Amino acid sequence: MHAQSRIPVAVLGATGMVGQRFIELLRDHPWFELVALAASDRHEGRAYAEVAKWRLPGSEMPISAATLPVVACQPEALPADVKIAFSALPTEVAGEVEAAFARAGIAVFSNAKQYRMEHDVPLLIPEVNADHAAAIAQQRKQRGWPGSIITNANCSATPLVMALKPLQQAFGLRKVMVTTLQAISGAGYPGLPSYDILDNAIPYIGGEEQKVESETRKMLGTWEEGHIELASDAAPEEIIAAWQNYKPEPQRLKLPSAPEQALIYRTEPDRPQTLLDRDAGHGMSVTMGRLRRCPILSYKFVLLGHNTIRGAAGGSILNAELCVSKGLI
Ligand code: NAP
Repeated sequence: MHAQSRIPVAVLGATGMVGQRFIELLRDHPWFELVALAASDRHEGRAYAEVAKWRLPGSEMPISAATLPVVACQPEALPADVKIAFSALPTEVAGEVEAAFARAGIAVFSNAKQYRMEHDVPLLIPEVNADHAAAIAQQRKQRGWPGSIITNANCSATPLVMALKPLQQAFGLRKVMVTTLQAISGAGYPGLPSYDILDNAIPYIGGEEQKVESETRKMLGTWEEGHIELASDAAPEEIIAAWQNYKPEPQRLKLPSAPEQALIYRTEPDRPQTLLDRDAGHGMSVTMGRLRRCPILSYKFVLLGHNTIRGAAGGSILNAELCVSKGLI
């Protein structure tokens, strides 16, 4: 696709943590051109730079975004040629707003949980279940809207499923036990009051455990059946090879946001680490380490994924690239 034929896109929830990631990742995107930024009514009509507190370390707000006026989250507020909207809206807002955009003929790539588990809505990771994009046709037919809603998963479920998929394919999976540790940025902006998190570890995030369980099952299922059954033993080297040799569809298609290596295995005993590994593959790779036999289940390992890139904005953009490349938009 040539620069002059880039697809005009909008970001909904553009002032928040995930919204800012969208803006950063869409800067100079070869297929998509960011032409509209939407947020809540309180910011409507003001320049983006005036209202957004840019929170991304080591990155400047793109000038092209700084001067854009913030518009309301309504389809009629966008330029008429926008056919894709990336949504970083809170769940309680996303339901109505995203449906309105889909009814107006726009493909919405959403980070909210509202529609994730609905049967006709793809919960998509192109490296894992690119075939689930087929649900879009059924969604349009059933709901009678010309646009669509395509979701990406919870930011813990996403890297987990990426690590599990090659193991499911090669050896089958029977049981998975997971412990997640979250970045503070997972709470959005402004997030937790500093006094609540200093000297502290917070053991509860509402809905997190349920989302990891249900979304993982949906993504590892096939579009027709939606369930998994897992089985046989393997040597550690075979498991590592299954990760390292995994070359799924976005890599074969050379989609612009697909990292060369979707899954990386580190042999050092103290890796992965957040600071050293979160940006692997421009934040789109998942890093594993410390694979060892487990006395309770077969194996244990640690994995790390970037919550606002792979687990949010970058994942949505890759989903849009997949849908464009398949002619679904
Ligand atoms: P956030 O920082 O709180 O940002 C929320 C955005 O939504 C802001 O731009 C806000 O605009 C806008 N908004 C709020 N109420 C609105 C309304 N009534 N109408 C229109 N716009 C409204 O949240 P976030 O962390 O970016 O998360 C966004 C979504 O992504 C959520 O659904 C979240 O669960 C999901 N997610 C987050 C992460 C993460 O790591 N943070 C990872 C994966 C998925 P104003 O500034 O104008 O209020």
